[in-house]
Amino acid sequence: MVEIILKRGKEKAAIQRHPWIFSGALEKVKGKPENGEVVKVIAFDDEFLGYGYYNSNSRVAVRLLEWDENQTIDTKWYENRLKQAIASRQFILNDETNTCRLVFSEADFLPGLIVDKYADFLSLQILSSGIESVKNDIVEILKAELNPKGIFDKSDAIARGHEGLAIENGLLWGENPPEFLEVKENGIAYHINIAEGQKSGFYCDQRDNRSILASYTNGKKVLDCFSYSGGFTLNSLAKNAKSVTSVDSSALAIETLKQNITLNNFDAEKVTTIQSDVNKQLRVFKDSGELFDVIVLDPPKYAPSRSAMDRAARAYKDLNRLGMLLLEKGGLLATFSCSGAIDIETFKQIIAWAALDAGKEVQIIKQFCQPEDHPVRISFSEGEYLKGLLLRVL
Ligand code: SAH
Repeated sequence: MVEIILKRGKEKAAIQRHPWIFSGALEKVKGKPENGEVVKVIAFDDEFLGYGYYNSNSRVAVRLLEWDENQTIDTKWYENRLKQAIASRQFILNDETNTCRLVFSEADFLPGLIVDKYADFLSLQILSSGIESVKNDIVEILKAELNPKGIFDKSDAIARGHEGLAIENGLLWGENPPEFLEVKENGIAYHINIAEGQKSGFYCDQRDNRSILASYTNGKKVLDCFSYSGGFTLNSLAKNAKSVTSVDSSALAIETLKQNITLNNFDAEKVTTIQSDVNKQLRVFKDSGELFDVIVLDPPKYAPSRSAMDRAARAYKDLNRLGMLLLEKGGLLATFSCSGAIDIETFKQIIAWAALDAGKEVQIIKQFCQPEDHPVRISFSEGEYLKGLLLRVL
């Protein structure tokens, strides 16, 4: 196995079990590893640090996956890791819920592998060359463990570019999922379009937050911004919201949301869908003086990296300022950020600026986070990406 020696003093993060080793920390690569090959990482003073995937194209030159020198990274090792990840999600799956994330990359010691379960189908995202090189083994293990109808490769993420990997979007094994596959989450049915939908088809990371938020919507006039296929809209309807206005810029999202209303036999009369840019639409509401009791702001990732932080902070601030101005007195704003680069304290600071700009007094009444199928390793805070606040705007 190729050995990689780190520069003196660059071993600290690996010792603390952080999984990323940046290219600038490498002193010497003893050999010529292929991208994706498992290498042995050693400190300057010869101490064993871990085994990880090497990649010469990426800023993250090694992604550590194992810190125990006595382990062998073979098919059995992958089988154990996958079994452990799958077993830890079983309590989420029941008669009411048949979709969740089964494998969450670094958090499950499989850097660059995401596996989502959608009823009888699996959707994979492969974001590291290391996982790409064992893709066939992983498919075989998932087949044996879960007996799915089909396994879909949904690796069309920008992250693959950083690893020098081409975009993939197609069937890996078994049956093609139907164009609109039906899944259930907390008793609510959703149509999911794995091939065309965003991310891996569905945002299952908002499962808990959707039902928490819904408990505040009985009899309320709700505005669901960045609605996608209607996660917050449908949960609010299930809890007897008076009306919901759902805004998303994607035609497929709005189309799927409408299907989902029918699928659940909810009253379509209560729902207004608007295909538009949220920032524009909020200004339209502001100009017309229309107010809401509950507003959800669940935008896409504004800060894909630390360098985008300043611009993202301004965008979050402006969005939240507008949201605050569209609430009835005492109304609730559920506001989220899925940017890993913005931690909860920074997010609170941004919200404080938004409140000042809006001239509103704001109370935090609840904090939202990512659910159990998106665990955060204590040594890898970068994995904590989803955060949110439930605010009462006075
Ligand atoms: N709340 C959703 C997930 C939101 S994902 C759920 O519970 O499932 C973010 C959504 O924002 C996507 O559907 C995307 O189409 C939409 N989007 C991105 N930029 C937008 C914009 N400027 N205006 C409106 N929608 C936007």
